[in-house]
Amino acid sequence: LSPVPSDIEISRSQSPKAIELLAREVGLLPDEIEAHGKTKAKVRLSLLDRLKEQPDGKYVLVAGITPTPLGEGKSTVTVGLAQALTAHLKLNSFACLRQPSQGPTFGVKGGAAGGGYAQVIPMEEFNLHLTGDIHAITAANNLVAAAIDARVLHEATQSDKALYGRLVPTVNGLRKFSPIQTARLRKLGIDKTEPGALTPEEIRSFVRLDIDPSGITWQRVVDTNDRFLRKITIGQAQFDIAVASEVMAILALTDGLRDMKERFSRMVVGSSRTGRPVTAQDLGVSGALAILMKDAIKPTLMQTLEGTPVFVHAGPFANIAHGNSSVLADKLALKLVGEEGFVVTEAGFGADIGMEKFFNIKCRTSGLRPNVVVLVATVRALKMHGGGPKNLQLVADGCSNLRKQIEIAQLFGVPVVVAVNVFRTDTEAEIDLVCRIARDSGASDAVACYHWSRGGRGCVELARAVRKAAQQPNHFRFLYDLQMPIVEKIRTIAQKVYGADDVEVSQEAQAKIDNYNEQGFGNLPICMAKTHLSLSHLPDWKGVPTGFLLPIRDVRASIGAGFIYPLVGTMSTMPGLPTRPCFYDMDLDPDTEQIAGLF
Ligand code: ADP
Repeated sequence: LSPVPSDIEISRSQSPKAIELLAREVGLLPDEIEAHGKTKAKVRLSLLDRLKEQPDGKYVLVAGITPTPLGEGKSTVTVGLAQALTAHLKLNSFACLRQPSQGPTFGVKGGAAGGGYAQVIPMEEFNLHLTGDIHAITAANNLVAAAIDARVLHEATQSDKALYGRLVPTVNGLRKFSPIQTARLRKLGIDKTEPGALTPEEIRSFVRLDIDPSGITWQRVVDTNDRFLRKITIGQAQFDIAVASEVMAILALTDGLRDMKERFSRMVVGSSRTGRPVTAQDLGVSGALAILMKDAIKPTLMQTLEGTPVFVHAGPFANIAHGNSSVLADKLALKLVGEEGFVVTEAGFGADIGMEKFFNIKCRTSGLRPNVVVLVATVRALKMHGGGPKNLQLVADGCSNLRKQIEIAQLFGVPVVVAVNVFRTDTEAEIDLVCRIARDSGASDAVACYHWSRGGRGCVELARAVRKAAQQPNHFRFLYDLQMPIVEKIRTIAQKVYGADDVEVSQEAQAKIDNYNEQGFGNLPICMAKTHLSLSHLPDWKGVPTGFLLPIRDVRASIGAGFIYPLVGTMSTMPGLPTRPCFYDMDLDPDTEQIAGLF
């Protein structure tokens, strides 16, 4: 229709097919799905085992240029491309998207189901609670926080004997270690299975984690942009948004329940007074976390407006998290589409952050290698990089950012196709100019995409370009070696990806890095927390900033997820709401239960 109706009106005008039918169409057996209502189903991980001999399909990553705060259409392109590949090129395909966070949904950006005629439906369900994964993450994260606090209190107020009596329960009149406690004893070098046989010294080291209250690094989380929580300090810790938590990162990077449990047990929550890392396993809480997350680990199957299958899993925020959809969703989809099929997965924000983390963290963990990168650009964002809204010269100037993001993708040796997401106000001359500059800058191809206004048929040219690029030789490589010192790895990203002259590491950050090295965590990849609105650390610096030092304010470690987490400049891990948040326009009709104003 023209003009294109609102996202929610389009979503509501289409009846999704029954989830059981969609599951059958993609090759799932009835007992491999757990339906949540009529339009969503969790998919069991046993599928991976059933299809383990099946070759993987082609793997396409959608990334973008440095965006405006509104987003440049990566989700929309991901959905449109999957629709075009399936319905128009008749290739099996899957889109893998991340579950939206309430932060952006009620804040500046709105939902993340795509938009126009390229969206996941029903978009209300996609954008709101879905199947509860983020709630489970919040619950798991905050259980760890409560466990830390309780342990500090009880250790401070009870004798060794009293603690021991309470920590080791009586089963049939005899004291018995739980499996988690046995594992902890082994970690302490105590190889005894009979609780009565422990010496007083062994009892003491077993019952006392001796957590240093000033060394607690674990944060509490909520999934709301609540700026006030930045000011609340609990001990040394504060609040983060739930989707940036280590529990979310583990969900995104794990390859199964066993691995997820192990990662939970390795999560470091702080240090003891002697400088030893204290883990979730030491707190005895890792088994409970696995229970809370046992359903969240299963990706959720949904569909696009054109009935193309979609996996929704893990979360957004490639600025303060790694912000990619899950390894498990991608792996399941790659098996389901078969060798000739395509999986289109999305990395958050610009290629400098979402894609860099996709390669250096996610691909390193999963072992998967993408065949093509699709880089989404819009004329509106290029004009912003050029310095203003009006003429062709500004678009040309702004293409410096596009050129740089193509170069970044090329650092990893994968072919790049540029997708110009066309808005109604763009002129033909502007679109042609962007496509020409993209090709001159080394992209395999650059095409205009009209999926937002026309659905899959508006994106067929992109689908053809992607299919062609997927046949090209692929020289994939990582940007840095894990054995490099932590600061060297950060410097490599800062210089090669962001274009900084060097890094400027604060004393506090350096002290933490020294501590992580001592604790044996020096060989992990890096997950930078940096603004998505600029290649640099300053959101207002558009285009391709040069001549700057990248300030590393602080460094955290997510040992269970498996990365070191530097905080760049003033980057906050708890976003805030704008003056006029999206929820201003949202309402619910009490008679029909229909939602208005969600986009
Ligand atoms: P990203 O994934 O890059 O953050 P989205 O795909 O979520 O961006 O798109 C951001 C917003 O812009 C959505 O509300 C979407 O409907 C809208 N949008 C995307 N492409 C277009 C387009 N070509 N014309 C008009 N609006 C668009």
